[in-house]
Amino acid sequence: MKAVVKKEAGYGAELSEVAIPETGQDEVMIKVKSTSICGTDFHIYSWDDWAKENIVPPQIMGHEVAGEVVKIGARVTSVQVGDFVSAETHIPCGQCYQCQTGKQHICNDLKILGVHTDGVFADYAVLKEVVAWKNDPAIPATYASVQEPLGNAIDTILAGDVAGKNVLIVGAGPAGLLATGVARAFGATKIIVSEPNQYRRNIADAMGADLMVNPLAENLEEVVSDATGGVGVDFVAEMSGHPLALNQGLRSITAGGQMALLGLPTEKVLLDLSADVIFKGIKLIGITGREMFKTWHLAARLIKEKRLDLEPVITHQFPLEQFAKGMELMQNGNCGKILLIP
Ligand code: NAD
Repeated sequence: MKAVVKKEAGYGAELSEVAIPETGQDEVMIKVKSTSICGTDFHIYSWDDWAKENIVPPQIMGHEVAGEVVKIGARVTSVQVGDFVSAETHIPCGQCYQCQTGKQHICNDLKILGVHTDGVFADYAVLKEVVAWKNDPAIPATYASVQEPLGNAIDTILAGDVAGKNVLIVGAGPAGLLATGVARAFGATKIIVSEPNQYRRNIADAMGADLMVNPLAENLEEVVSDATGGVGVDFVAEMSGHPLALNQGLRSITAGGQMALLGLPTEKVLLDLSADVIFKGIKLIGITGREMFKTWHLAARLIKEKRLDLEPVITHQFPLEQFAKGMELMQNGNCGKILLIP
């Protein structure tokens, strides 16, 4: 089969002919119908410091996927050949304290598809049964692979209980753009999006933002204050991982408000905890992955009932062979979600 393989340490990846993988007893094999590129794939492709520490080449890249089950292992009971599935990418051990207390997504021995295992940028991929999410066949394959990052956005926005609230979304990459649509669907009153990139601010507009701000050209705290009658927002979703953005977000929250952090800073971040968190009574919530499988139920429902339109966020679609074009776009940032179709 053809696959996008991270062959060795260093920049890039290669389209290669590789053997179709074996299907273990607790695994299912899928014929891949659609995949999407995540920021993590770009980290691996560009071989940054995180990739150097976490990836052992050679490895097939990719983890956001939808496909048809073509083979099941002897012990598989919940999925049949012919089912249309997506993959939860957090592979839990099922044994640890977190798994036993309903927090599989932050399993103590977590493995991640396409990071610790071969991934899905290929004709076929093998998934553990425990992460094979059965899709409603009414959901198009091109949307089904995007449910995984949509789950990140849902988890982040749910942390803020946003109905009726004023919300600031910091960073409008695919995660922030999906979060904008989710905040709108879950009933936020005013949604402000802070993002330096004009192309992405335009998509935020299409996803239902009320106000788009360029934080490099405008004073975000002042804009937020003016837009909320001097009060500040009730909730901030930090979706950039940028240290400046994180501080700007914190200072835009009203006392007693909340901030959920999905963005991953690449270095340690300096915060004024006394002034910006403790004396303001701010609740900070870290978000890792998606709650399993609550966010999948909600993602599927939002898509199927047309409460969330993914079209503005899905900006490009390429055949798998042209993965490098997708990676180039990820680098310059003038994109939303990019699909790769085998
Ligand atoms: P992305 O890099 O495409 O988007 C980040 C956006 O932040 C960019 O559009 C960038 O222009 C913007 N930005 C940069 N500086 C800013 C500033 N000062 N103010 C506002 N915005 C600013 O990434 P993504 O795929 O959308 O993911 C968002 C973040 O979430 C990344 O840090 C990613 O690593 C992280 N992530 C975390 C998890 C998790 O489980 N916690 C899962 C997926 C992604």
